[in-house]
Amino acid sequence: MLLKQFLRIGLVGFSKKSCRSFTKQPDFTKNTYQIERGFYNYLQEPHLNYFKKILGDDGNRVITDESLLEHYNIDWFKNVKGSSKVVLKPKTTEEVSKIVSYCNANKLAVCTQGGNTGYSAGAVPVFDEVILSMELMNQILDIDVNSGNVVCQSGIVLENLDNILAEKGMMVPLDLGAKGSCQIGGNVATNAGGLRLVRYGNMHGNVLGLEVVKANGEVLDCLKVVRKDNSGLHIKNLFIGSEGTLGIITKVALRCPIRPKTQHVAFLGLQNYEKVLKTLRKCRQDLDEIISAIEVMDSLSLEWGEQHTKLSSPIGRYPYYLLIETSGSNEQHDEAKIQGFLESALNGHYILNGVVTGEPSKVKSLWAIRERLPEGFKNHGWVGMYDLSMPTDQFYNVVDELRTYLKNSADYVFGFGHLGDGNLHLHVITKKYDKRLETDVEKFLMDKILPMKGSMSSEHGLGFIKRKYLPAVNSSESYHFMTDLKKLLDPNRILNPYKVFP
Ligand code: FAD
Ligand code: ZN
Repeated sequence: MLLKQFLRIGLVGFSKKSCRSFTKQPDFTKNTYQIERGFYNYLQEPHLNYFKKILGDDGNRVITDESLLEHYNIDWFKNVKGSSKVVLKPKTTEEVSKIVSYCNANKLAVCTQGGNTGYSAGAVPVFDEVILSMELMNQILDIDVNSGNVVCQSGIVLENLDNILAEKGMMVPLDLGAKGSCQIGGNVATNAGGLRLVRYGNMHGNVLGLEVVKANGEVLDCLKVVRKDNSGLHIKNLFIGSEGTLGIITKVALRCPIRPKTQHVAFLGLQNYEKVLKTLRKCRQDLDEIISAIEVMDSLSLEWGEQHTKLSSPIGRYPYYLLIETSGSNEQHDEAKIQGFLESALNGHYILNGVVTGEPSKVKSLWAIRERLPEGFKNHGWVGMYDLSMPTDQFYNVVDELRTYLKNSADYVFGFGHLGDGNLHLHVITKKYDKRLETDVEKFLMDKILPMKGSMSSEHGLGFIKRKYLPAVNSSESYHFMTDLKKLLDPNRILNPYKVFP
């Protein structure tokens, strides 16, 4: 029986900075990955004096205290650790411009950091790069309720921006598990996808304009606020997904859709992956105009998540789970549609069991089961994160084949992700980083994914960990075009070195 009910799910918010625990300590990246420092200058007293002249000398915006630095030197998954000696916290574009042009003139490498929730270790230094934290650049500059857009500084936390927009009946067209920490600038810099891409599209479609500080300190103003603009090349798009390697994003103009009046979430248990695909097709046919998310998890991922988050499946154990969300403007209409879909999916034996709710607190709790899955992985040891796009019917062939291929050389292989976008997250975890295992997994996946014309990094970027993919997954012409662009925009390679470009 399909129940419109709710069972024992704890209420949660996620990923406030206080949640970070540093029980697991990674070794320094330079040791783990055996990598050589570039020919950059080392930070000296006169450099610090200059930064203090710009940002003040009270220790709040030029951080050199070792105990405070650790938080900025280690990534969210605690896979890598840099050894930066300073974090700078500008509040204005002018301050960013002065800092960057000084670093460029003095050959000091810079690592821009947003919320430090990125999955590819792009936001933490590899060696002693100056960390440019955007966290104080968190002001909203304008909200246009008629056109439906917002202009803000780039360091505002996604969830904070969304809460403010909610007061005007608007929303950020992006949602992800890290929303309590990640920043809009980090989202743009990674071209984040997230949970509702199936409905609202990615950052290339939603960013209307950007202000960017170039490596030489020049401010590039592309901060338009209109949806249509064909008056020249679309320069802003170069910086979307550039992961801090081409410029520092200081302001963002973003399209903001109307906030839906009603949302429903269904959490379903299924017998096998074939049924998952049948249900996906049915869901698109029956609910297309109101779908806002379609997520999949396998039993192992969910059980692991349950153990580590103390949340539990409201429907017991099944080989596969689907989380389907609808968003719309008419409660009765949407409820009738989703109930109708679920009843016929149940009667047609597409699904084995499920719950559905439209109550906001319960919607949040069901989402927490999916959003908090990655929390479970981070304290185990080394987490190999693979973020793949491919035809949806291949998702769990790849997961199962990788499990068979690896036998006992990895502790676990988890498969879950954004089924509606054709984006699978595959996490391989072991107690310790093992270079041979990493190389094996990468080769296995490239051999599978590239012939399918898929993507080896769908939403997490390349950062440090996947920088070797750049030449491997792009044609040599595109690769050289990208490296030429990097040379043009950052000739001294001070912006986020060791990342993206191998
Ligand atoms: P950071 O991690 O700080 O930085 C990421 C990269 O952007 C770095 O290379 C950094 O140098 C650069 N950068 C940051 N700010 C700027 C700036 N202002 N100017 C220039 N460069 C900058 N990602 C998804 O796409 N979809 C998901 O569904 C998703 N779910 C997640 C769930 C969890 C629990 C966690 C922990 C992460 C998840 N992520 C997801 C990954 C991550 O949250 C996103 O990549 C996010 O966009 C990163 O934002 P951030 O502010 O934390 O950036
Ligand atoms: Zn994702």
